[in-house]
Amino acid sequence: MNLAFVLALLVQNVHQVGEVFDAATRDRMRQRELYLSEKMAQLLLEIEQKNMEQSRAGRRALLPAVLQSWKVWAAVCLLVLLVWVVRKLHQKYQRMKKSSGKEGSGSEEEEEEKEDFEGLLHAGIQPPVNDLAHKCRAMHCLVSKLLNSCRILLSDSFYPVPQPPIGVGSAYEGWCPREDDPVFCLLVPLTAPRGHTFHLELGTARELPARNSRIRVELECTCRTEEETGVLCFLHNTEDRLGKQPPSLLHTLCTGGYLDAEKIARWFPVLIQDAWRRMPESARCRINVQPCSRSCRLHVIDGFNRIFIIEMMFGVRQHRTDIFLSSHKIEGIVIPSTTWPQSCAVAEAKFFRHIAAHAREDSFHLRCMQVWACLLVGDNISVYEVKTAVMHLLTVFPMEHWRARHFLQRMHDILWYLRCCLEERSLEHFLIGNEAVPAEIILPRDFRVSRPLNLFQRLEQEPDNHVRAECELDELPDQFTRLLISQQWQTSTCPQTSFS
Ligand SMILES: [Zn+2]
Repeated sequence: MNLAFVLALLVQNVHQVGEVFDAATRDRMRQRELYLSEKMAQLLLEIEQKNMEQSRAGRRALLPAVLQSWKVWAAVCLLVLLVWVVRKLHQKYQRMKKSSGKEGSGSEEEEEEKEDFEGLLHAGIQPPVNDLAHKCRAMHCLVSKLLNSCRILLSDSFYPVPQPPIGVGSAYEGWCPREDDPVFCLLVPLTAPRGHTFHLELGTARELPARNSRIRVELECTCRTEEETGVLCFLHNTEDRLGKQPPSLLHTLCTGGYLDAEKIARWFPVLIQDAWRRMPESARCRINVQPCSRSCRLHVIDGFNRIFIIEMMFGVRQHRTDIFLSSHKIEGIVIPSTTWPQSCAVAEAKFFRHIAAHAREDSFHLRCMQVWACLLVGDNISVYEVKTAVMHLLTVFPMEHWRARHFLQRMHDILWYLRCCLEERSLEHFLIGNEAVPAEIILPRDFRVSRPLNLFQRLEQEPDNHVRAECELDELPDQFTRLLISQQWQTSTCPQTSFS
């Protein structure tokens, strides 16, 4: 190329000086110019041919090495595939062996969850980072095993019996605003011990969800099974005889004949610690149990020194529905220890599972929810109200309209829906009086037939809060735009969130 440049320069110079010389000299110079041009073209052709030959020779030389490398990689892939197939077959065989040899030892799903947990704690390779679903399963599995151990400890007593936990809240619904630091909320259903029954009293305030609910504990006659179980009937035995067996629930975790949430919250950590010591996992990771007034908080520290926070609430299922009377607190209200407010957490988590079952893997509905939850600031619109709006819209737009390409439109729709609700001061509770709730969410009859509950009713009496709520909503589009530009959501509040 340098040669071509020099020749081009010469040719240009010939033109510039040509006017100074006579006609014969100009002819000679023109011939010289033609000669140099031909020479240049020839040189360029030779260089090109030389390069092509070298390239062909190089490819010929490289081909055997590439072929050899390809064969090696194919062999490695085949070997890996073979190991994977053998491992899966072995796991399947182990599961079949366990399920056939041990009655009631747990379903295949439980076994998979167990593997998840084992994998999280002991994997030789780096465990998946920020894989929220994986962590949710692992924590669910850990608490399931812990509660199983508790049931064994409680088998000779008359304390409430903890059943397998149910994942609730943002982490288990899949839209956790802080994926790097989630709280794994699990509701622990409690059933009555032998010789006892729970009677749910939903209060008289005619409100839904009922806040003033209580759980009355009654004794039932067990005379018929006395010989078989060795458990004396609490109703038809003398005090002296009953003194030989542990006291009834009425004498331990009740107040005035009603189940006491605070007494349960004090009793449960002791039980958990005792159960944990008997679990093999206790040799490999640690737990710190932090009692709370109406729940139990666990800090699980795994083999990688990571801390997982688990919040366990207690609940009693309301007549085979997905509504529970739960020990959860109501923000801003002090409630008596024997009060168990109605909780929709299990039904709502079930709704998100129902949606996930009908959505494509690349659905963005959870991302929509997550981004608005991340951006929400102020106290006048709650995350729960945004979630309610999203749940309504999930029953309006078909699931194929929640894909990545609809993301901006759906984000706009959620905001628009909330703005309309604010203007009308009316946002209906998703589960009460809503015919669009899928049939597989099992609700008490009064939930189905009641008039919809207005979550924005408070704004009717609070005009100042209404104005502030509108201002908060008006700020959201700008924040969203800034978020899209800065991409902050990928690293800080909403890690792992990606629009691409
Ligand atoms: Zn009896």
